[in-house]
Amino acid sequence: MSGLVFYYYNRLPCAAFNVLEAAIKLNGEHSIITEFDEFRIDAYVLADSTTSRIVAIDFDNTITADVDFYLDLIDAYRNRDWEPVVCTLRDNDDENLIEIHDKLHDAGIRVYTTDGKKKRAFMLHEGISVGMWIDDYFPGITQFGTPLLLRNGIEY
Ligand SMILES: [Mg+2]
Repeated sequence: MSGLVFYYYNRLPCAAFNVLEAAIKLNGEHSIITEFDEFRIDAYVLADSTTSRIVAIDFDNTITADVDFYLDLIDAYRNRDWEPVVCTLRDNDDENLIEIHDKLHDAGIRVYTTDGKKKRAFMLHEGISVGMWIDDYFPGITQFGTPLLLRNGIEY
C-alpha cells in the first residue's frame, strides 16, 4: 500500500496539527501536502477552534485507511492531553458502534454518529467545539463557502 496523503493548509499555529505531523514523520510512509488536489488527497486536516482540545477523526476511509497508524495517533494525542474522538456520518445503531470500537480495540473512545448530518453543526449542537478535523470527505463536515473551509484553503 502506498502512503496516505494528508492535506493541510491552515497558516495559523495549530498544536493539534503538530501531533499529527510528528506521527506522519514517524510513520515514514504518509505525507502532507498544502495544495488542494482532490485527486491526490486521502484525508483533509482542517484546523477549527483554537481553544478546543478535541480532535475529531472520521471512521470510513479515514481510520479504516490505516488503522494501525490511527491507533498510534490516538495514543499520541492522549499522551499530550488531547481528546481524540470518532465522528462519523453513520447512524447510531449498535452494529456501527460495535464495529468502530472493535476496530479500535477501544471501548473508551467517544464516538459521535451524525446520521448523515453535517458534522460541525451536529457537534456544536452537542455542545462540542472541535479543535481539528481529520476526514476523507470535507463536505461532510460543513457546507461549501463556510469560514472553516475558506480558512483552510478550500475555496468554492
Ligand atoms: Mg469517511
